[in-house]
Amino acid sequence: MNWTCPYCDKAQTVTVANHFKGQMLLDIGVSASGPIHLQSEAISCANEDCRRATVLVRLINYKGGRGKTFLARQLMPESAARPQPDCIPAALREDYAEACLVRDLSPKASATLARRCLQGMIRDFCGISKPTLFKEIAALKQQVDEGNAPRGVSIESVEAIDYIRQIGNIGAHMEKDINIIVDVDSDEAQVLIELIETLFDEWYVARARREERFAKVKQIADEKAQQKLLAASAVGDEASSVD
Ligand SMILES: [Zn+2]
Repeated sequence: MNWTCPYCDKAQTVTVANHFKGQMLLDIGVSASGPIHLQSEAISCANEDCRRATVLVRLINYKGGRGKTFLARQLMPESAARPQPDCIPAALREDYAEACLVRDLSPKASATLARRCLQGMIRDFCGISKPTLFKEIAALKQQVDEGNAPRGVSIESVEAIDYIRQIGNIGAHMEKDINIIVDVDSDEAQVLIELIETLFDEWYVARARREERFAKVKQIADEKAQQKLLAASAVGDEASSVD
């Protein structure tokens, strides 16, 4: 089974040695919910630097031999938030992590946090600050159209943000205050969470990688210049010793 560790983000093949799946019937006599089976599944990460445990539980009903999961929860880690690097401001990472944590329990709260995170990104990365998220997206779109958006902000990423404006309640409430709680389901909240993950990657992580690459080039150039200088002074020394 192919699987990606939610802690360290490492893709791997799960083997019998680090995977457990078990199921039992909760023997409670006759119940309006029918016979309930509790299934548990656990995986230990194969990455030696991680080795952390992921634990899931499912409640399953069997009717006519076919099982139907009616409740599924990931117990460890508590949230499906992906690990995010330090190049993303802490406040944005916190909003993102919390939006992931409450996605299934309270999609409304999750979507509100996700919208706040999205607004925080547009303000921080793009330097755009308007009274509503709706106006900020419009301003960002205009910047991209005019070719003066911050480096890393692609037409595709702005189109993805703009697409969110068209999603039912999320879009309808963007013209209002960011803190207004919008009635959404967990699938809609997930769309926002995935957008944030994509933008974290395309904006912040890509910028950090670019800066790192250029710092390396500069370091090499500096070293070469230093070597040249040393070589030149060595030649100078030789010349003066001949005198
Ligand atoms: Zn791991």
